[in-house]
Amino acid sequence: MAEPEQVDVVVVGLGVGGEEVAGRLAEAGLSVVGVERDLVGGECPYWGCIPSKMMIRAANALAEARRVDGLAGAAEVRPDWAPVARRIREEATDTWDDRVAVDRFVGRGGRFVRGAGRLTGPGRVQVDDQVFQARYGVVLGTGTRPAVPPIEGLADTPYWTNHQAIEVEELPDSLLVLGGGAIGLELSQVFARFGVRVTVVEALDRVLAVEEPEASEVAAAALRADGVEIHTGVRAERVDHDGQRFTLRGSGGTSFTAERLLVVTGRRAHLEELGLDTIGVETGHRFLPVDDRMRVADDIWAVGDVTGEGAFTHIAMYQAAIVIADILDRARHSKAGADPSGTASVVGGAMGAASSLSTSGSSGSAGTVPRADYRALPRVTFTDPEVGAVGLTEQQARERGINVQVGFTKLSSSARGWIHGVGDEGFIKLVADADQGVLIGATSVGPAGGEVLSGLVVAVHAAVPLSQLRHMIYAYPTFHRAIEDALRNLS
Ligand SMILES: Cc1cc2nc3c(=O)[nH]c(=O)nc-3n(C[C@H](O)[C@H](O)[C@H](O)COP(=O)(O)OP(=O)(O)OC[C@H]3O[C@@H](n4cnc5c(N)ncnc54)[C@H](O)[C@@H]3O)c2cc1C
Repeated sequence: MAEPEQVDVVVVGLGVGGEEVAGRLAEAGLSVVGVERDLVGGECPYWGCIPSKMMIRAANALAEARRVDGLAGAAEVRPDWAPVARRIREEATDTWDDRVAVDRFVGRGGRFVRGAGRLTGPGRVQVDDQVFQARYGVVLGTGTRPAVPPIEGLADTPYWTNHQAIEVEELPDSLLVLGGGAIGLELSQVFARFGVRVTVVEALDRVLAVEEPEASEVAAAALRADGVEIHTGVRAERVDHDGQRFTLRGSGGTSFTAERLLVVTGRRAHLEELGLDTIGVETGHRFLPVDDRMRVADDIWAVGDVTGEGAFTHIAMYQAAIVIADILDRARHSKAGADPSGTASVVGGAMGAASSLSTSGSSGSAGTVPRADYRALPRVTFTDPEVGAVGLTEQQARERGINVQVGFTKLSSSARGWIHGVGDEGFIKLVADADQGVLIGATSVGPAGGEVLSGLVVAVHAAVPLSQLRHMIYAYPTFHRAIEDALRNLS
């Protein structure tokens, strides 16, 4: 085994979070090794956010064209998957090639190592026969992989995960979707709008179960209107594939068949692969527990989906900013100790980056390192209508014993909703803490539900008093003006 090579930082996993940490630290002058076993950029650009939103953009164009009748004349719609597959292949993923991303990282000053990284002791990472010893620490940004439930027969079938669904060149005639969460619903609606017969099977009693029940209802109704069959409260018990078609048998004697089966029942971090036992961290957790500076232990940080704080690109980026500030803070102190004159170039770079973060305004920041605060975590399911939400749902707030007030209004009763006509399904629901006089949660469902959400995120994040929200001016006739109606209905 080679002698360990001394570097400042090793980042294992260059998904959204890891790439940001590694690239920014390298730019600040630290010697950074970035380790990635698959594609630099991770799930989001190749099999997640970006290609799925390209699919949604195309599917929504079809849906809008189908709304021309009765609004603006007549339109003949002939869906064709070829341009969607081409855009994903050529524009989004370079046919699943990360050369550009690797060059970008190296261009920022990082050293790239392709392979699977594993801890072999404090600050020490092994990749094949190379070993690196990190002076300031190791960052784990290893993400998650699809969690495949232990359903009899499933493992022996050619089921799809999000990877095959995103890479598909020719659509199947029919698709079973196991899992009615955000990813399942987004992809179901896309494929249905392109003419695939889609059936969703969900074990819980409603789809999109983490959001408000009213959001589940609107989303389910929208998908049904697109021809999607939805079966809730059905537990999958057995899956068979006869070489042509899948059969899924569920609880209550239910049975479904289709050409393809997509499994989107959540995601799992594979902590057992990371060598955490060599640094005394238990591997029995579902995700890596971190403190509010994203530290797993003194010289090890985690970022992104692997932390279990929310499987979103914006969470990975938010956490990355904290990790970067914390490591640069450590580098600054370490350099100042070793070199009292503080003239090393990295110190200047480090200070600059750390202080710009500390002023970036994460609430709860102490000193130069901001602390993570997930109170105002926004999430958007990009179905049509979009389901945007922030903070607590009504039920979560009640379970915490908060003195809750709820305000609700349908989008169709706002001026803009009424003008919009067909496709105006949606609502605003506000959850307020009556004692504090602030919003602690909100849901915005509608044609621009994710965009309307932004004002509500500010309100929850900055704890804007309800009295101020009631006395601000909302542009007429916007969708977001419905927030004013929901505020009026708070009771
Ligand atoms: C279909 C789909 C749609 C989505 N849409 C959205 C959306 O609209 N908005 C949103 O915010 N989020 C969305 N997400 C979630 C988003 O993709 C993730 O939250 C994000 O990719 C998390 O980034 P990450 O860096 O934590 O992990 P990942 O992107 O999973 O990257 C982790 C990387 O680590 C590598 N790795 C793992 N172990 C090792 C190891 N031992 N050594 C070396 N490398 C390793 C992996 O190969 C991978 O490249 C979507 C996800 C899916 C699947």
